[in-house]
Amino acid sequence: MKMNKPKMASEKGVPSTSKVQILLAQLEKMTGDSMVRDPETSRQITSKLLHLIQTQEKTGKEVMSKGTSGMEVILSSLESTRDAQTILNILCILSELLTLGKGRRVGVFVSKGGTGVLLRILISTSKEFHPSEELMLQLHSLLAKVGPKDRKLGVKARLSGALNITINLIKKNLQNVKLLLPCLQVLRVYSSNMVNAISLGKSGAIEIMFKILAPYSKKNTSLLKVAVDALAALLKSKTNARRAVEARCVSTLLTLYMDWHRNDTWHRHTAIRKGLLGCLRNITNTKLGRKSFTEADGMRILYNSSSECLTVRTLDPLVNTSSLIMRKCFPKNRLPLPTIKSAFHYQLDHALASGPVAQLYSQPPGVDDVVDDSDDNEDTEADTENDTENEEDEKDCRSLNDDIEKDINKLHPQKSPTRPFEELRVYERFFVELSEDFQDYTFDCSTTSSSSLARTPRTVLVPTAQALSTNDVTTQTSSVLCPPPKDPHYSTPAPLPPPALQLDTLRFSKERNKREEVAQDLSHALECVALKSEDSLNMDKQKGSPISTQKVAHSPLLLEGIAIRCLAGGGGGSDCGSEGAEDEGAVLEVPDTAQLLPLHDLDLYVDMVKGTHSVPQYTEVAYPDYFGHVAPTFREPLLERLYGVQRSKIFQDIERLIHPNDILDKIVYDLDIASCPVIESDGESLKFNSQFESGNLRKAIQIRKYEYDLVLNSDINSNHHHQWFYFEVSGMRVGATYRFNIINCEKSNSQFNYGMQVLMYSVQEAISGRPRWVRTGADICYYKNHFARSSIATGGQKGKSYYTMTFSSSFSHKDDVCYFAYHYPYTYSSLKMHLSKLEAMRTPEIYMRQDVLCETLGGNSCPLLTITAMPESNSNDHVCQFRNRPLIFLSARVHPGETNASWVMKGTLEFLMSASPLAASLREAYIFKIVPMLNPDGVVNGNHRCSLSGEDLNRQWQNPNAELHPTIYHTKSLLQYLAHTQRAPLVFCDYHGHSRKKNVFMYGCSLKETIWQSSISAASSELHEDLGYRALPKILSQIAPAFSMASCSFVVERSKESTARVVVWREIGVQRSYTMESTVCGCDQGKYKGYQIGTRELEEMGAQFCVALLRLKRMTGLHNHQHLLDLESDLIGTQPKVVSSCPTTYVMDEDEPSFLEAVDYSAESNDEDGEADNEAGAGSREIPETPDLRPERPSDPESGHGAWKCGPVASQ
Ligand SMILES: [Zn+2]
Repeated sequence: MKMNKPKMASEKGVPSTSKVQILLAQLEKMTGDSMVRDPETSRQITSKLLHLIQTQEKTGKEVMSKGTSGMEVILSSLESTRDAQTILNILCILSELLTLGKGRRVGVFVSKGGTGVLLRILISTSKEFHPSEELMLQLHSLLAKVGPKDRKLGVKARLSGALNITINLIKKNLQNVKLLLPCLQVLRVYSSNMVNAISLGKSGAIEIMFKILAPYSKKNTSLLKVAVDALAALLKSKTNARRAVEARCVSTLLTLYMDWHRNDTWHRHTAIRKGLLGCLRNITNTKLGRKSFTEADGMRILYNSSSECLTVRTLDPLVNTSSLIMRKCFPKNRLPLPTIKSAFHYQLDHALASGPVAQLYSQPPGVDDVVDDSDDNEDTEADTENDTENEEDEKDCRSLNDDIEKDINKLHPQKSPTRPFEELRVYERFFVELSEDFQDYTFDCSTTSSSSLARTPRTVLVPTAQALSTNDVTTQTSSVLCPPPKDPHYSTPAPLPPPALQLDTLRFSKERNKREEVAQDLSHALECVALKSEDSLNMDKQKGSPISTQKVAHSPLLLEGIAIRCLAGGGGGSDCGSEGAEDEGAVLEVPDTAQLLPLHDLDLYVDMVKGTHSVPQYTEVAYPDYFGHVAPTFREPLLERLYGVQRSKIFQDIERLIHPNDILDKIVYDLDIASCPVIESDGESLKFNSQFESGNLRKAIQIRKYEYDLVLNSDINSNHHHQWFYFEVSGMRVGATYRFNIINCEKSNSQFNYGMQVLMYSVQEAISGRPRWVRTGADICYYKNHFARSSIATGGQKGKSYYTMTFSSSFSHKDDVCYFAYHYPYTYSSLKMHLSKLEAMRTPEIYMRQDVLCETLGGNSCPLLTITAMPESNSNDHVCQFRNRPLIFLSARVHPGETNASWVMKGTLEFLMSASPLAASLREAYIFKIVPMLNPDGVVNGNHRCSLSGEDLNRQWQNPNAELHPTIYHTKSLLQYLAHTQRAPLVFCDYHGHSRKKNVFMYGCSLKETIWQSSISAASSELHEDLGYRALPKILSQIAPAFSMASCSFVVERSKESTARVVVWREIGVQRSYTMESTVCGCDQGKYKGYQIGTRELEEMGAQFCVALLRLKRMTGLHNHQHLLDLESDLIGTQPKVVSSCPTTYVMDEDEPSFLEAVDYSAESNDEDGEADNEAGAGSREIPETPDLRPERPSDPESGHGAWKCGPVASQ
C-alpha cells in the first residue's frame, strides 16, 4: 500500500486558538462509525491539526492543558480509525505533543491508556500483509518514548503478543538503522521485565543482539549503545545468561570489550564499554558464567584493562564494574586453618548434650569445618515468574518488625514466682549492709570490708635476672614476662592452687587437672620482669638480642613530667635513634604511670596477673597493660575516608591471583603448631605475638614484603565470633608502611568504614613518657573478601564469605614493640588492680565492700562490690536511713570484646569512690551493687562474645545454669533475692559496647513503645505505663556529651528476651532496666562530634551516669510534675510513625549512610538483586520498573543505594 506523507496544511493567519478547538471538536464528532466511513475527512482534520501543532507551540499547550479533553479525543480517534494515513497523522501529532512538556505530557498519555492503544494498533498493523514501515517506525518511536513511564508496559506487551512483533521486525531489518533504533529502544524497555526477558531470549533476542554488536565497529554508536543495554537487561535472567554462555558469548564479550578499550582513545563511548561490562556482570551471576569467564582469561583481561583506566577519573565506573566482576569470579578460598574451632579448647565438666559445645565437638573427626563441600549452591533456581520486584524489600521490613515482641503476656512485667525464698536465703550474705546495725562499729575507718583481693598477702616478687638464661631472652623478645623455659604454648598447664577465694555455700568445687609446677613456672617467669644485672645485660648486647625495647637513656629520666623509674634492663640494639645515648648503664626506663594513673601500680598488676587463670596458661604480660594507658590530651578526629581506598585494596587482593609469583605466603605466627610463635630470624618479617591476657591472634601470614594476612582466633569452645583483636608486633622497619588484613571478620559492616581507626601502643613511646594507646592506621576499610565461610559456622547458610578489615601503619621507632587492638584493652587483671587501688582510697565516710560472687568456669573470681556512705552514726535513725536507701544495680563486660564497657565502669567506680560532694551525696542516696565484670573468663582468654561455655552469657538470663553460667546465675539470684525482700533496685544497668553505631545510648523496656512499634492492637486500658523509664536517659542526654537520646530505644525485641535488660524488667520488675551501649568508634553529635571516643570520654560517661542518678533521685523525690510533663511531650515527639515502611532507629542496628564505595559485591547466586550497583544512573535511568524501593536513606551520589540492608543484628 502506497502511503502519502502526512500532508502539511498551509493556512495561515487564522487565529489558531479557535482553530484547534474547532478541529478537535470536528474530530470528536467523527469518533465512531463516521471515522471509518469517511477516512478522507479524518485525514484532512488530522493533517490540519498536525500542521498547527508543528508550527505553533502554543497549540500543543492548548491540547494538553489541564481540564481539556484533547488527549482523549485524539486517542479515541486513533482507536476508531482504520485509515492508515489518519493513523500516521495522529501518531505524528502524538509524537509532536509528547516531545515537549517534560514528562508530564507522557504521564497524561499513559494515564489515559495511550500505551494500550498503541499496542493494539501495533498488533493490527502487523497482521496486514505488508505492514507499513513508516507506521511501524512511528509506533515504536512512540512506544520507546512513553514506555519508561508505564510500569505495566512490559506486561501489557507480553499479554497482547507484541513482544514477537518487535523481535521479528528487528530480525528483518538489521541493516535498516532508522527502523532498528526505535525497535531496539522498545526491546530494551520490554527486557527490563524478567518474564519478558526469558520469553525474548527464547525468541532468539540474545543472538540478534550479538549480530548487531559484533564484530567491533564504530558505526552507529547510538544504536550499539541501545543494543548493549538491551542485551544487559536480557542477561539479568539466569536462563538467558546460561543460554549466552552456551553460545560462547563470554569470550565474544571480552573481545568486544577489549576492542572498545583499545579503540575508544578519547573515551567518547564509555557508555558502550560500560554496557558490555554490564552484560558480563549479569552473566557472571551464574556459576556457569563465572566458570566461562575464568576460562576465557577474564580475570587477567579485566585486571589489565582496568589498571590502564585507573588514571582517568571519568573511567571510574568501568573500573568499579570490572572490579565487581573480578571479585565475583575470584575463586573462593578456604581460610588457612586446619579447623575453625578455637585453637584452644576448654573441657567442660557440665557440657549440656544439646549445648553448643557438645555440638561443636560432636563432629566426626574427618569433617572439614573450614569450608563446605558444595559451598557454591548453584543456580537451580529458575527465573521467577513474579513481577513484583519490591517483594524483597518488604520481606526485609517484615523480618525487622518480626523481632518486636508481640506477645502481650510477655510484655507485661511479671514477677513470676521463680525460686523459693529458702533457696535464695544464702544470698543474704551479700547484703550484710541491709541488716548491719553498726553497734560494734567505732566509726573510725577500715572495717567492714571483707576484701577478697587484698586478703592474700602474696609477696610481690622483686624479680632478678639471675634465673634468666640468655636463650630465654632471645626467644622471648618482646613481652615483659618470659615464658616457662619449654613449650609455652601447649604443655605444662599452669594452675595455681585453687584460689583461696571461696564462698562457703556457693563455691562449686571443680576438679581442675592442673599441676602445681606451673605455679613455679609462673613465678619463674615473673622473674623476667627484672632488674637485670650488668652481666646479663652485656650478654644480651653481644648476642644482639632483640629484647631491647629500650630506649637507652640516662637514669633517672624525666619526660613530659613523668618520673621514670628503673625497672628492668634491656639488651641489644642500642641504635634506636636516641641522640647521644650511651650504652653504658643502659636500662629500660619505665614511666611511673602511677603518678598519672592513680589506680595503676606496675607491681600490683604483675601480682594480679599471677592470680588470673587462662586456658592457654599465659605467662606473659603485655606491656600496655603493665605500663598502663594515659589518655592523650589531644582529641582524635574520625578518619576521613579517601576516595577509592577499598578499590585499591581489592585490586591488590586480585593481584594475588594475577601475579601469584609475587606472593610470599609465609607463615610467621601460628597458634596451631606446637612451636608457636614461629620465630623468624632473617629479619625480613615482622614478629607477632598475642599470648597474653586478652590477646587474640591465631595466625599471621606474610603476603608481600610489607603485607600480612591475620587470622583471629574463635572464642573458646566456639567456631566463630571474630571481631576483637589484640596482638603485638616487633621487628619492624622504620619508615616502611605495613598493610595488615584481618581476613576472618564476620559482621557485614563495621565502623572501620565510618572513621574508626585501630589502636596502637608503642613501647618506645611509653618509655619516652607517653604510655598510651593512640588511634592509628590509614587506608582503613572493611569489605567482603573471597574466603568462604563454612555453613557450620553460619547457622546453616551456605555460600557466605568472610570480611576483611584492612589498615596500614608505619612505625617511627626502631626496635620497638607495638601493640594493635580493636579497642582500648582492659584486662581482668586490670580490673582486680583497679579494685584493689579503689579499696585503698576508701575513707571513713565510705562504706565499700568487695565480695566474691562466685568463681567462673575458668577458676577466676567474679567480684561483687557494695558502695554506699557509712551511716552518720549508729543511732537508730541513721542506721535506718542507711538500710533504706534504694539500690542501684550495675554490671558490665558480659561481652569480653566490649572493653569500652569496662572503661565506662571504671569511670563510674572512680566517681563513686571520689571525694567530691556530688559523690558523697550519691553514696548517701543509694546503695550500689556492682558486678564490674560478668565474664572474666572471656576477657582473660581474648574472646569476643562468649564465655568458656561457648555461649553468649547475655542470652542466658531467662534460665541460667549454675554450672555453665555461674556469674549470670548468681547475679540473677541476687536480684531475685532483692525482689523477694521487696528491695528490687530502682535502676538496673548493664554496660555494653556497640560496634556499629556512634555515641552512647540506652536500650530500655517499655510496654507502650513496643506496642506502638509492633502495630499490634491493644486495648488502651493496657497502655497505662509510668514514663519513668525515660527519665534517666533523658537526663543523660542533657549532661553527658557523648550520650544521644535519638539513638535510644525502648522496644522489647524477641531476640533480646533473654538479655539482662529484658529479664530484669520482666521477672524482677525493675521498670528502669537498661543496657547502656557505648560506641567503639566516636560521636556524630554533641561536644565530641567528629571525634573518636577515648578512655577519657568513656570514663567521663561513667561518671556522668552517676551524676544522672543523683538528679533522678532529686526528681523522684520531689515528684516534679513539670518534669513529667516534659517527659510526656518528649515522648509524644518521638512517638513513631506508623510502621508502613521500615521502622526508624528502633530495631535498626546501623544508622550510617550508605557507603562511599559499595561494599557488598556478592557472588551469591541468590543475591542478584541485593548486589550493590556502583553506577547509579547512566543507561539504567530510562528503564522503568527499577526496583529501588528501599527506604529513604541519606544516599551517596556515588553509590546509589549502596550496600545498605536492613538486617536485624543483635548486639547487646
Ligand atoms: Zn554487648
